[in-house]
Amino acid sequence: MNERQLAVDAVLKACRLCNAVHRGLISAGTLDKKDRSPVTVADFGVQAVVTAELRRRLGDMPIVGEEEAGALRKEENAGVRDLVIGHVRAILPDLDDDTILAQIDYGRYAGGPTGRHWALDPIDGTKGFLRGDQYAIALGLIDNGQVVLGVLGCPNLPLRLGQPDSPRGCLFVGEKDRPAVMRAIDGDSETPIHVSNIDDPSRASFCESVEKEHTKQSDSARVAAILGVTAEPVRIDSQCKYGVTARGESSIYLRMPTRADYEERIWDHAAGWAVIKSAGGEVTDIHGKPLDFSLGTTLRSNKGVVATNGCLHQRVIDAIDKAISL
Ligand code: AMP
Ligand code: MG
Repeated sequence: MNERQLAVDAVLKACRLCNAVHRGLISAGTLDKKDRSPVTVADFGVQAVVTAELRRRLGDMPIVGEEEAGALRKEENAGVRDLVIGHVRAILPDLDDDTILAQIDYGRYAGGPTGRHWALDPIDGTKGFLRGDQYAIALGLIDNGQVVLGVLGCPNLPLRLGQPDSPRGCLFVGEKDRPAVMRAIDGDSETPIHVSNIDDPSRASFCESVEKEHTKQSDSARVAAILGVTAEPVRIDSQCKYGVTARGESSIYLRMPTRADYEERIWDHAAGWAVIKSAGGEVTDIHGKPLDFSLGTTLRSNKGVVATNGCLHQRVIDAIDKAISL
């Protein structure tokens, strides 16, 4: 199997784990808003499954992961630890407890400009997960500082937005020099996807984060007004925003900085970047600068993120320039 198939396979297994954690929540009736432990279980569980699968079949390629198992080893967290181990073992039955914790700790690579490494966000959009909304498992492959592959598992995303009966659970793949595809997570056929061809901003819709702490929604409203976008923003958690833009349901994704010193994390964008680019779209920061994935764990030379269908890109960048210098 090649890297692409392995990555898809690992993310599909991770989607199964997330669905199992969610089913457990519903049946236990424990959707307590203050209790973050369900997302913690899914977060650690996904990191263990994806890491174990990649290492077992590809050897020890470095991984930049969001989690580490230190807290799980503490006795006070034995309950969460047992749940993580149980969920991981339901997917990968031959892993013992120590191996599971060691897999989680493996993802500590610091990234950088040379060699090949993975960037993994086990649960992107933790708040969406807890609300029962959108979240994503995001796995990107970075080669000498360039993203060459991205797999986005979106277990709760409808195959088509806005269709009440649409089945849920999509997986997107973007790969350098190959068209982007989407598949249902419980299906096995891949469909090519493409960004929208809307070139008139008044007909475009845009998406942004649900959480006001992650994007300055008042700035995107100004950008939309300058562009003449009339549709209300579509608010979605996680890199699902890249997926819906890549398949043409939104033409613009705006991530406006909420503070000057925030550095976007590479695992929050690598997979989505690959999906949008392969689907014919464009991604830069808010000043039109390409995202630089070669600088370690963050995109420290960039400010915010803008993804579009490509034909609208320059106009969006120009509108941002006007909006934030007003
Ligand atoms: P989203 O679901 O698109 O709102 O983004 C979720 C991601 O936002 C998380 O994975 C965090 O890493 C990231 N995040 C946390 N704080 C900020 C911030 N101040 N600005 C932008 N992103 C943030
Ligand atoms: Mg994230």
